[in-house]
Amino acid sequence: MRPCPTFLLVLLRWVRLRMCARRWRYSNGNNSRLPLCVRQRWAYLKLMVNSLYYNSLTNSDVIMDSLMEPIFWMVDLLTRWFGSVFVCLVVILTSSILLIAYVGLLPLILNTYSPPWIVWHIGYGHWNLFMIVFHYYKATKTAPGYPPTVKNDIPFVSVCKKCIIPKPARTHHCGICNTCILKMDHHCPWLNNCVGHFNQRYFFCFCLSMTLGCVYCSISGRNLFLDAYSAIEVHTYTRFTYQTPPPPYTFRDKMFHKSIIYMWVLTSTVAVALGGLTIWHAVLISRGETSIERHINNKEAERMAKHGKVYKNPFNYGRLNNWKVFFGVEKRSHWLTRVLLPSGHAPYGNGLTWDIYPIRKDMIPV
Ligand SMILES: [Zn+2]
Ligand SMILES: [Zn+2]
Repeated sequence: MRPCPTFLLVLLRWVRLRMCARRWRYSNGNNSRLPLCVRQRWAYLKLMVNSLYYNSLTNSDVIMDSLMEPIFWMVDLLTRWFGSVFVCLVVILTSSILLIAYVGLLPLILNTYSPPWIVWHIGYGHWNLFMIVFHYYKATKTAPGYPPTVKNDIPFVSVCKKCIIPKPARTHHCGICNTCILKMDHHCPWLNNCVGHFNQRYFFCFCLSMTLGCVYCSISGRNLFLDAYSAIEVHTYTRFTYQTPPPPYTFRDKMFHKSIIYMWVLTSTVAVALGGLTIWHAVLISRGETSIERHINNKEAERMAKHGKVYKNPFNYGRLNNWKVFFGVEKRSHWLTRVLLPSGHAPYGNGLTWDIYPIRKDMIPV
């Protein structure tokens, strides 16, 4: 009996298809049943999607940062908008303390203190005031320094993803100013300005002189505060217990007492808060690093410790040398003219390159 030709034809086609399928499967090295062109397109799409957000450094911090990005954006926006309000607040609060000092305290000092104490209070008070005003003005008005946006030969360490320009060493992008800042420390809302290479000294000197001023007011006004506080307590007590006679204080006395309490509470609070910040920045300056570099250096130290190595900050020249570089002290008289007195000298270097130690060759970086 002869086999049916149609049956043979179908059998032959089935065998050929099986062979093709097997060849295609082996040639592609996997068991996918999808055609090659589909799998190629799928692999390309997968690579494209991955390349948009994935990199080998992705970790939980990056994911958390990405999730927090809207909050950061909102904070940046508010800080930018309220920058002028913060500056006005600093000016108004400082002026209110000055008003109390000149109208309320100065006549008291002149009438009751001995001549040496009068000289001390007037001399120190005015030096401190001048330091605060000068450094605050300079810190707010001096540009922190920006990297060049045109083509140049300056060495750089990375490229800013937002500005699309090369970033020299120690340069970071400020989301509030929306630009890159040379040797960026942080964005200060109280200055409405970034703290960077060209105004960091002014910022630190302002913090230091403001802290000293607040400590001075807090210490010298302590007894007056205690008197005013007890006077107000007596006045409140007699008023609420309907006792006679009424307190012997006039309206002027009451205003004076309230002003003294306001001054003491404000200056003591600022002395503690700003004092802490000033000490922290003094520690950073001693180590030759900025606030941002503190985090970077810590992470780098941890990373290198895992490999059994010790990380050394390349911008640390030793504690005293760091301070000399920071204040621009080249000779002994500069401690007076550039540190204790207001000085508008520019910092060392251009903030773009950091390879040369600026003061003396015998000071070897450590
Ligand atoms: Zn940038
Ligand atoms: Zn900024």
